[in-house]
Amino acid sequence: MSAPGASWGRYSRATQQIIPLHWRDAALPPGSGTVLAHGNGRSYGDSCLNDGGTLLHTRGLDRFIAFDPASGVLRCEAGVLFADVLDFAVPRGWFLPVVPGTRYITVGGAIANDVHGKNHHRAGTFGEHLRCFELLRSDGSRLLCSREASADLFAATVGGLGLTGVITWAEFALKSIPGAQMATETLRFGNLAQFFTLSAQSEADHEYTVAWIDCSGSGKTFGRGLFKRANHSAESRPVARPLRLRMPLTPPVSLINRASLRAFNAACFHGTRQGHAVTHFEPYFFPLDAVADWNRIYGPRGFLQYQCVVAPAHAEPAIAQLLQRIAASRSGSFLAVLKMFSDRPAAGILSFPRAGTTLALDFPNRGAETLALLEQLDDIVAAAGGAVYPAKDARLKGVRFRQYFPQWERILPHIDPRFSSGFWRRVMET
Ligand SMILES: Cc1cc2nc3c(=O)[nH]c(=O)nc-3n(C[C@H](O)[C@H](O)[C@H](O)COP(=O)(O)OP(=O)(O)OC[C@H]3O[C@@H](n4cnc5c(N)ncnc54)[C@H](O)[C@@H]3O)c2cc1C
Repeated sequence: MSAPGASWGRYSRATQQIIPLHWRDAALPPGSGTVLAHGNGRSYGDSCLNDGGTLLHTRGLDRFIAFDPASGVLRCEAGVLFADVLDFAVPRGWFLPVVPGTRYITVGGAIANDVHGKNHHRAGTFGEHLRCFELLRSDGSRLLCSREASADLFAATVGGLGLTGVITWAEFALKSIPGAQMATETLRFGNLAQFFTLSAQSEADHEYTVAWIDCSGSGKTFGRGLFKRANHSAESRPVARPLRLRMPLTPPVSLINRASLRAFNAACFHGTRQGHAVTHFEPYFFPLDAVADWNRIYGPRGFLQYQCVVAPAHAEPAIAQLLQRIAASRSGSFLAVLKMFSDRPAAGILSFPRAGTTLALDFPNRGAETLALLEQLDDIVAAAGGAVYPAKDARLKGVRFRQYFPQWERILPHIDPRFSSGFWRRVMET
């Protein structure tokens, strides 16, 4: 039976048949319609949806398979959440090598979007730490993929948007940590030039760096923000694990509007304490996870996230142009994130991270006005040799996708003929 569904931005909608997967040795459902694996639906747009087809829900593939406490190598099923890996690993002195801004993603979803975190300058993407996985194809074959075996399919599947088949299990290396605490430092910066200076100064001594930027700033406040850098800490003093709240309902209209945005950003800039602190790793890495279902705050029309990267040669003027355009629209979010990507080689054919500066923020869905604004941002990104992140996208045109990922044709021979997604059909057909 088909059921309506939405992804994290609650903007992309799809009606699709849902089939849960529970056993990694089970076959794919018979039939000829399109299928797509679905992890925990934390992608913002339609890359995890398959309107008119079938979604294979992988959260039932939630078992740990093997762990080597000497090397930290973990093998688990693809529907295991990063949150579960952390619950298991941190008390044993291990941590995921790369974590995105939420821990509620699956291992399969992390591979298919080759996710990045605040340590790209040190560790690259999740795909770099992946040793092997099993891929189930629609012809019934099961392939062990690694850098040695089926290497082309490995590179196509890392960042491959779920199009090459279902990953049933994966093996990856954890990293050793001294404890659950982080030694953090928060610094205010007054403009973009200071952000770039702080980034350059911080990377040698800090494993993690990220900045929040006030996207409503103009004039003297344009480009201001908070820079947060951190290392894992050997501090043995226990630090409380934060409580988790829940957004209890979807308000009838978005709570993010021009007035609340300006007020929140000013309060955040002036109200956040600067300096050193020791915190639990959760608030440093996953501040948004503190409020379950926070995505409802944008009301029934949902929101669109925009994450782009711009090339180093154009970074400062291009980020300034993007922020000016966003400020002029008096739209944008209270959590705009700015960070640097290093020039490490990409782990997958379609991996998004590349050398440059990445900006990510949310826009309440105001229909045509929002879509027109995002197309203007696309133009700036294209002129700055950049790209938009498919995991966050719900409306990019194919012509832009092909410009941002000029290597896109290299994945075509590896796509499973039965696999497709809303995102893929959109960018192939426009
Ligand atoms: C608050 C928040 C912060 C975020 N921060 C970051 C960030 O800092 N960095 C970053 O990189 N991303 C970030 N993301 C995006 C998120 O990490 C990715 O979208 C991730 O892929 C979601 O994983 P998921 O398990 O929910 O997969 P889904 O969203 O359900 O699916 C994502 C893709 O994975 C494929 N897939 C899922 N399981 C399998 C499988 N078993 N086999 C084959 N393909 C599969 C799907 O087909 C789809 O193409 C963030 C998202 C949120 C909500």
